[in-house]
Amino acid sequence: MSISADLTRLIVGLFLGILLPRIPLLFFTRFLNLEHELTPHPDPVPIGVPLVQRLLLMRRIHAMGWLISLFPLGMGLLILKSSPEPFGVGLVAGSAWFILSRSVPLNIEGGWGILPLSLIQEINNLREPETYCCNRQLLQWEVRAIRCLNCRIVSLDLPRPDLGRIRSDGRFVGTLRILLMDGHSVFPRDGDSVVGQGVELLGQVSEEE
Ligand SMILES: [Zn+2]
Repeated sequence: MSISADLTRLIVGLFLGILLPRIPLLFFTRFLNLEHELTPHPDPVPIGVPLVQRLLLMRRIHAMGWLISLFPLGMGLLILKSSPEPFGVGLVAGSAWFILSRSVPLNIEGGWGILPLSLIQEINNLREPETYCCNRQLLQWEVRAIRCLNCRIVSLDLPRPDLGRIRSDGRFVGTLRILLMDGHSVFPRDGDSVVGQGVELLGQVSEEE
């Protein structure tokens, strides 16, 4: 067997292992027409029941990715059990990368997963806040944070994650972006890491999600 054929099979396996668990995130909400209750991408999303429902749905979609990741992982392990096939190595490596990238929290206080329940609870609480920033409070989730539309005060300093809306940058670029960022915002939560600060500089160049 030539090296190039082995390499091709490794890459195909790796690609499948990376792509398969992300299919729910890439396609579910975007291809089923569920847009009617949310503002179109990339507009700010008002804090309200539709947003909270969408966050809960996205949480389920992330969980679905976990389930699907078991399929390439199991298949890869089965293949490797019978022969040292590069395709099997690729499948295991790709799905293990998915599992690792989801298991490591971005910040300790932030909770576990891309959309921790504590975060959704926090956003739900903003629907009926105890204090008002101004007398025409209208909170909405912008790309970088949750702010009041009228007085611009930041209520929650948290970049908006992917909400499964059909992306304004088109299906191809949008899909690529989600594949790379895994549904996280390209903007880090403040003070996350040195890498985060680098991304922030990049973010100033392109002020879009
Ligand atoms: Zn206000």
